[in-house]
Amino acid sequence: MRILLSNDDGILAPGLAALYEAVRDLGDVTVVAPDSPQSAAGHSITITGPLVVRNLHVQGPAPFDGLSVAGRPADCVRLAIFNLLDHKPDLVLSGINAGANCGIHVFYSGTVAAAAEGALLGVPAVAFSSALTSEEIDFRRDARYCRAVLRQLIDRGLSPGDLINVNVPAIDHGRPKGVRVVPQSTAELRDKYVKARQEGGRTYYEIADYNLGTHHAESDASALTEGYVTVTPLKIDRTDHDDLPRLDEITWPDLTGETD
Ligand code: MN
Repeated sequence: MRILLSNDDGILAPGLAALYEAVRDLGDVTVVAPDSPQSAAGHSITITGPLVVRNLHVQGPAPFDGLSVAGRPADCVRLAIFNLLDHKPDLVLSGINAGANCGIHVFYSGTVAAAAEGALLGVPAVAFSSALTSEEIDFRRDARYCRAVLRQLIDRGLSPGDLINVNVPAIDHGRPKGVRVVPQSTAELRDKYVKARQEGGRTYYEIADYNLGTHHAESDASALTEGYVTVTPLKIDRTDHDDLPRLDEITWPDLTGETD
């Protein structure tokens, strides 16, 4: 199995090194990742300027030779699949991100975007993130949970375009309570913009409290808080299929003639 591994925290991130170590025996793993941290890059891509690619030997629990890209997470996956890899991968993995990517963080997440790009291009993809803890995240421990989940997903069989979002809870001590398959929370972000200072006619704002609001009863966010590893299947097609017939009932203007 050919695996493409990327992330949004950059090619030198410990979460990526830990995931590489945990999955390298599952297939032929190629790392193509941003050359710098790209958290909250979302699904942006670089359309002006060159994408500079460098060969890099990365030290870590299992050293690897990878390619760094001076671009966004989605750039890495697109460039890898279109140009850098000899063969289309069978699986795209992203992570492990430092910080959970549940609820509507999924929209801002570069980690999920890297996986989503794989899914867009017809390759099954899984994104992995670890919730922040009061101590440093133990990525090598979390990578073993990610590997266990991934092996089950592979055993069940992944299809082209599958996009799975996996989060590991904050566990300072002990172990996760188990694995839960849960929907994405749609609770709004509670974050605020705080006026930091005023200087030379400019006002500086900073984001504060980058956290999710009240969660649905059963969601990725709530299960994560309760200490479960969460598995959430995501869709590339964001069409609201329930709303299609309702909007289709509207008498739309005939644009072929005169309009008011
Ligand atoms: Mn990140």
